[in-house]
Amino acid sequence: MRLRRRRAPIKGLARGVRTGEFGAPPAGLGALVRCADNRLEGSVSLTVQRFDLCIIGAGPAGFAAASRAWDLGKRVALVERGRVGGRGLTDGALSSKTLWHLSNDYARARRTDRGYRATDVTVSYEDVTAALREAIGEREADLERQLAHLAAPSAQGGSVTRFEGSARFTSPHAVEVTRGDGSVGAVEADHFLVATGSAPRVPPGVAVDGALVVTSDHVEHLPRFPESMVIVGAGVIGCEYATIFANFGRTRVSLIDRQPRILPFEDEDVAEAVSRNFERMGVHIHRESSLQSLEARDGRVRYVVCDREGKGCEPLDVERALVSIGRVPNTRGLGLEAAGVALDKNGGVVATDTRSSSPHVYAAGDVTSDTALVNVAELEGRHAAERMFGAPARRIPYEALSAIYFLAPEVAAVGINEQEARRRGVAYRVGVLSNRLIPRTVAMRATDGFVKLLVSRDEPARILGMRAVGPQAATTIQGIAFLIEKGGTLDDIDACVHPHPAITEGVQECARAILGRSVLKPAAFGPALLRVDAWAPGDP
Ligand SMILES: Cc1cc2nc3c(=O)[nH]c(=O)nc-3n(C[C@H](O)[C@H](O)[C@H](O)COP(=O)(O)OP(=O)(O)OC[C@H]3O[C@@H](n4cnc5c(N)ncnc54)[C@H](O)[C@@H]3O)c2cc1C
Repeated sequence: MRLRRRRAPIKGLARGVRTGEFGAPPAGLGALVRCADNRLEGSVSLTVQRFDLCIIGAGPAGFAAASRAWDLGKRVALVERGRVGGRGLTDGALSSKTLWHLSNDYARARRTDRGYRATDVTVSYEDVTAALREAIGEREADLERQLAHLAAPSAQGGSVTRFEGSARFTSPHAVEVTRGDGSVGAVEADHFLVATGSAPRVPPGVAVDGALVVTSDHVEHLPRFPESMVIVGAGVIGCEYATIFANFGRTRVSLIDRQPRILPFEDEDVAEAVSRNFERMGVHIHRESSLQSLEARDGRVRYVVCDREGKGCEPLDVERALVSIGRVPNTRGLGLEAAGVALDKNGGVVATDTRSSSPHVYAAGDVTSDTALVNVAELEGRHAAERMFGAPARRIPYEALSAIYFLAPEVAAVGINEQEARRRGVAYRVGVLSNRLIPRTVAMRATDGFVKLLVSRDEPARILGMRAVGPQAATTIQGIAFLIEKGGTLDDIDACVHPHPAITEGVQECARAILGRSVLKPAAFGPALLRVDAWAPGDP
């Protein structure tokens, strides 16, 4: 490789060059330009700006870490190759939730069992996607505004300089940043945070073309509501898109599930409540099925689905296919070997309390191949920034993590469930109270679903986990998430005074049923409406 001396300024990598918007560019930042034959030309006297921290990826993990490092008075380089916000915003959490809410409102408007009959309720795909773009635009503008603020030095001297381009480690303390136009720059730092997120996993033999055969990266960019769609994979993301398309009522949705039931990581009662509703909504589930082939042919998608033994195969034809079988950490091409960072068998960064095998390199969010959630990514990003700069860092309460599944009905989860308790050999007591017995859900005419509380068998009984299935599920679990984090007990739930009518009263009644002092007695209603049970290792 021949490097030619070039003194003229080369296009800045930093958005900070737009003085006034992001502040002044880091002084002396050199850059190389990649030639058509892939050689690098550019400044040999490359004086590279050194930062306290270089963050790769401005998704929820990287963004939160940058903001926290700014608080701590650190000079931060934030490198992002795409749009700020990552999958927390586009083709991910916010975008899919916007679609879920819009589709829910539409489905509700078409209901005929609530005393009103709306006539001529129609849906326009163009208007739905315009609303989606508006939601993303609002949130993205907020993040840009925040970045503009972080570009200016904080009271403690912190600043965040943004670099557009794809980062790759060239040595333990340096990354090369390649922009879309081929120009290349370099950033050095004392510490690094790898926050590059994850990408959809594609099964071998399936060609994703982004048009007929798509992943979550493409499904929100279809030209219209497809008349039919097969979704490969019945995990959270697959089930969420099944709910969205079924709610809009313009797409015949089928789900291919290898397991006997959808949402295999959740208890059977949760999966059952969601499947029942899928069937009511016209979603067809190919249970215990394997996908033998799937290909785009003559402008349609032809797939063959068989039973688990590969027998009873059936060829089927749909307009589009959504492949949703999980995600893989984004570590390819990052040059992590140059920084001595070890990867696990999935290609995720091995991190202990956010620190990788290379002590100055940290990792947060989806790239670590543990829990893939926005709140976890943010927590880990903040935690990593605090740890690396010696600020007091609170332990990440992984046991009290909560999640929402945007299905029909909504499902929210915190802590462990029954199957996880059994897998770990943790003795428990459980109470399950149907929404049919909660005054607020009765008033809402939304009695599908339940609240389910899991507590330890020792005294006082510690709260192990909770599931809420039904309206306002996310809000319902929040108090329990707090109690788990604080080491709260069943008696704490019993003692707290709840407003009436609130769904959280159901949680309290459930707690009291486990304690044997509920107002409604299990024997009066039977296990379908109010169940109290216990399990210990050795029990069936
Ligand atoms: C369809 C969908 C729905 C979801 N819904 C929810 C939900 O409801 N609730 C929830 O909590 N979570 C949800 N998630 C998960 C959530 O979006 C992720 O867990 C979260 O975004 C992870 O944040 P992150 O910062 O680790 O990674 P990401 O958000 O993936 O961000 C990583 C960033 O790094 C950038 N990058 C990658 N490589 C490089 C490189 N070499 N150089 C420079 N930049 C790079 C990428 O462009 C990206 O912007 C959803 C995900 C999907 C796909």
